[in-house]
Amino acid sequence: MNEPQIFCPRCAWRPQGEDRWQCSPRMGGCGTVWNTFWTAGVCPGCSYRWQITFCPSCRQFSPHEDWYHWPEGSVEERERELELGRN
Ligand SMILES: [Zn+2]
Ligand SMILES: [Zn+2]
Repeated sequence: MNEPQIFCPRCAWRPQGEDRWQCSPRMGGCGTVWNTFWTAGVCPGCSYRWQITFCPSCRQFSPHEDWYHWPEGSVEERERELELGRN
């Protein structure tokens, strides 16, 4: 099993299934409300991929990727894959 732990990289707040985010109209979004971790940050309304995710606990934005904390070891594997992909 290589399931990542999902929590805020700043304050370690853990999103629950009932938590919701909005595709913010103020930031050019469509207003859809959904759980962004079900879709890896992709809005189901307009298919926009959010690179940043708001934390309702510390009220800061963090890169969506940074919310995923992989078990020890698998991070190295992922980085190696990225290295290979670059060459
Ligand atoms: Zn949207
Ligand atoms: Zn936070």
